[in-house]
Amino acid sequence: MIIFKRLNFGYGKKDQEMSGEEEYNSLEKEEAVSKYKSEELTNTLSTNSLTKEKFNVTPWEVEGDVDYTKLIERFGTFSINESIINMIKHITGEIHPFIKNRFFFSHRDLDWVLGEYEKGNKFYLYTGRGPSGKVHLGHLLPWVFTKYLQDKFDVKLIFQITDDEKFLFNEDSNFNLIQKFTFENILDIIAMGFDPKKTRIIVNTRDIKYLYPLSTEIAKRITFSTAKAVFGFTNSTNIGMIGFPPIQGAPCFLPSLIEKRPTPVLIPAAIDQDPYWRMTRDLAEKLGYPKPAQIHSKFIPGLASGGKMSSSKPDTALFTVDDSEIIEKKVKNTYTGGQPTVALQRKLGGNANNCPVYWYLNYLFDNEKESQERYYACTSGNLLCGECKSDMIKKVKPFMADIQFKRKKAQDMISKFTIDGKELDDKINIKFE
Ligand code: SF4
Repeated sequence: MIIFKRLNFGYGKKDQEMSGEEEYNSLEKEEAVSKYKSEELTNTLSTNSLTKEKFNVTPWEVEGDVDYTKLIERFGTFSINESIINMIKHITGEIHPFIKNRFFFSHRDLDWVLGEYEKGNKFYLYTGRGPSGKVHLGHLLPWVFTKYLQDKFDVKLIFQITDDEKFLFNEDSNFNLIQKFTFENILDIIAMGFDPKKTRIIVNTRDIKYLYPLSTEIAKRITFSTAKAVFGFTNSTNIGMIGFPPIQGAPCFLPSLIEKRPTPVLIPAAIDQDPYWRMTRDLAEKLGYPKPAQIHSKFIPGLASGGKMSSSKPDTALFTVDDSEIIEKKVKNTYTGGQPTVALQRKLGGNANNCPVYWYLNYLFDNEKESQERYYACTSGNLLCGECKSDMIKKVKPFMADIQFKRKKAQDMISKFTIDGKELDDKINIKFE
């Protein structure tokens, strides 16, 4: 499962390290401030580029500057509107900041899942991880949200590790290395604090017997022509890749087999994964299962100028295993939406909308009031990038130290989360307690 993808930044500048104020004198501060203030805070990082019409999103690739409103139209999903927000508030008594600030912005059948929940028909959560490398800060955001959903709704979670996909989809991949990352990534997942009594981690290559009957049912109903249209497969695609989508679809229906009744499933994931679930939804009713519902997040930016936070670009990512010195160094080197000089920053203000430091502070560390204050201080020239970086270092270091502590403890907890040894003689009798 590829959950985290790239987001392009219009212009990241290494903050306040150049001189040249005179070159920029033509732009008045008031114009700049009013331009930024008029933009929606909730649409940060991506919707204000001249190239916003030109983007491409597939489960494997995100190109260009994504316009999320247009993406909703293209994919045929639905924005999370006030009525759904009110439903969530009615059930949980609050709205998570990731919904409030539209990090999770789109859905399919979320209202139906919430309605079933209110009738007493609890849903399962299903999400996943493709173990292609070390886990970084960007990976953690949807997991933080998934844990929140598990706690708030008191529901079970299937966490699928798509080690097969990561092997098949990369020509240079090494199976042993992927197994190593599988182990390491499971420590990160456990470190998030999921409830061991309500969470099962399924590793595709090890636990295929739980998925294979369902994936076979799904595979039988998808033609190669449909698969090509949905996923862009060609004659040079290896046949492992062509066979993979039904395996990612299988956990959508597994809860109904475990519970022995039609069981709703809610998938928190980045929106690029939607084609998998769209395909699975098309088949669900034919197979006698509820259509899996989804709640989609935006993509996660990297620390460099443009592009995603990526394990393959270590300098753009804060890994959960980085020590505090490395974290500090990486944050200090992060690109920002700041102006090239302090004087210009004071005069023109920064561009918080295209600033990864702002993005991470906004989504992970600042509360709503702090985030708004930071936005206006930045765009009005009353804040320097060094101050934001210093705030981020202060907040991200203890956050990562806590994860590292929990990762160590997780080594003794793996068997509580995996399904091996928990099944009885019934082939789908996966025990949660
Ligand atoms: S939010 Fe902070 S780091 Fe980003 S551009 Fe503004 S001042 Fe610089």
